[in-house]
Amino acid sequence: MAEGKAAHGWAARDASGHLSPFNFSRRVPRDGDVTIKVLFCGLCHTDLHVIKNEWGNAMYPLVPGHEIVGVVTGVGPGVTKFKAGDTVGVGYFVDSCRSCESCGKGYESYCPQLVQTSNGVDLLDGATTQGGFSDVLVVSQHYVVRVPESLPPDGAAPLLCAGITVFSPMVQYGLNAPRKHLGVVGLGGLGHLGVKFGKAFGMTVTVISTSPSKREEALDRLGADAFLVSSDPEQMKAAASTMDGIIDTVSAEHPVAALLELLKPMGQMVVVGLPAKPLEVPAFSLVGGGKRVAGSGGGGIGECQAMLDFAAEHRIAADVEVVGMDYVNTAIQRLERNDVRYRFVVDVAGSKLGGAA
Ligand code: NAP
Ligand code: ZN
Ligand code: ZN
Repeated sequence: MAEGKAAHGWAARDASGHLSPFNFSRRVPRDGDVTIKVLFCGLCHTDLHVIKNEWGNAMYPLVPGHEIVGVVTGVGPGVTKFKAGDTVGVGYFVDSCRSCESCGKGYESYCPQLVQTSNGVDLLDGATTQGGFSDVLVVSQHYVVRVPESLPPDGAAPLLCAGITVFSPMVQYGLNAPRKHLGVVGLGGLGHLGVKFGKAFGMTVTVISTSPSKREEALDRLGADAFLVSSDPEQMKAAASTMDGIIDTVSAEHPVAALLELLKPMGQMVVVGLPAKPLEVPAFSLVGGGKRVAGSGGGGIGECQAMLDFAAEHRIAADVEVVGMDYVNTAIQRLERNDVRYRFVVDVAGSKLGGAA
């Protein structure tokens, strides 16, 4: 079989989740593929769950990273959407079946054959996919989006997963309407973008957090209207039955009943955080007020493009700490300790990658 382009990245080799240099090769471009030089890649909490095998599905060696901004360096035959030099983004997935109901409706992220950008399995050759903590990607043009020039490329990278993951359910569930009250649970990578999008939609936004130290930033810098410490029953009680919707971004096990109390009757909670252990949802918390709980995973390619265009129009980018790849293991530890404001982004193009051949 012909060898593709040499790629240099950093991979986890086992459930310690420690990343180290790793050389591999990208596939030979197929019809419709674009080749992308990676500039920046965000560190999502999903990367942490996966490299540590918390979800039990890790395939090592594993190059994480699915919040990618890069520049097109090559286009194969059949590429119509992009040309060399375009600034583009790649998010959580790089392929899907293109024929199921979800794909047909533009909800590709719900395709049963979804191919994740990292730790996925290619539909044609069965190879394990490797993510954006590497210098080059080869992706079908259908799964690539255009990054508006007015967005900073480092701050735009987290929009490709964190951004679309909060934006999509806000639009799907009507939590994008002026004056409605949105609760955002967990002020991390996803949560801080939930606050920014909520404010851009003209909503009243309340952050529900375990970290009192984030109060001032939430209110002053991110523009939230209110801040509740979830462990304080008085604060939670005072806000009972006030929210139209809640987006729960928490990455760890946590009580849900107290959050449901915050919803108005018939209010909507959307779970996007993915703790490994099941959440406990008491029937009484739902039935009393006719409340609803849904889940939401990523978003479709069309939705992702709409989100980026909306972000450019409203000047929304992630608050990022840009680091070199040699800092990535420290960044992973800090993310695990909830010590990041609010997203680590690796300067991939500016880092030394790969190991001895
Ligand atoms: P993150 O930056 O680590 O943010 C998670 C936030 O949750 C933390 O900042 C913290 O906020 C809160 N938190 C952490 N531990 C907690 C605990 N024990 N109890 C209560 N709150 C806690 O992570 P992220 O990258 O935003 O990702 C969040 C979750 O979403 C992860 O599970 C990730 O896998 C998942 N995810 C899902 C999708 C999807 O498609 N549905 C996409 C991307 C990520 P406070 O300090 O404010 O409490
Ligand atoms: Zn992610
Ligand atoms: Zn499909």
